[in-house]
Amino acid sequence: MQEFAQLTAFCGAEGCENVTHVSALYCVGCREKYLEKALARFPEPPKGKTWIYFMRSGEDGPIKIGQSIDPTERAVYLQTGSAEKLWIETAMLGAPEIEGRLHARFIKHRIRGEWFKPAPDIQALIVWAKKAEKEARRKRLEIAMGSDIFDSK
Ligand SMILES: [Zn+2]
Repeated sequence: MQEFAQLTAFCGAEGCENVTHVSALYCVGCREKYLEKALARFPEPPKGKTWIYFMRSGEDGPIKIGQSIDPTERAVYLQTGSAEKLWIETAMLGAPEIEGRLHARFIKHRIRGEWFKPAPDIQALIVWAKKAEKEARRKRLEIAMGSDIFDSK
């Protein structure tokens, strides 16, 4: 694999003409710029998409199913009006309509507005979405860094 380690390609960042390892999308300088985005828990969604989030109010408390381009910021904002601690359990990237579809699907668990009882089927969806979140984050990191850091050594 020695000769493979030497293979180079141009950096994929717009306007950058540096070379980098063939399996990496960006040169070392550009990787760092992209890494911040890749490492963010909920980076800015692409056009037409949003974060469908599951927000929890207190341990074993109700769950808010909502949408935001920045779920973390939304939790911080809503926290000032809540006696219980609020946090984002997880969020999935999707079309804004998904929020309404989830509200309809879990209507029998609805408490008020966007708040739902932590019923087993909602919990199951959260478990699934958490796994997907972890996988998506690993993927973003891989794209940002190039697969070489995962394959070598
Ligand atoms: Zn570059």
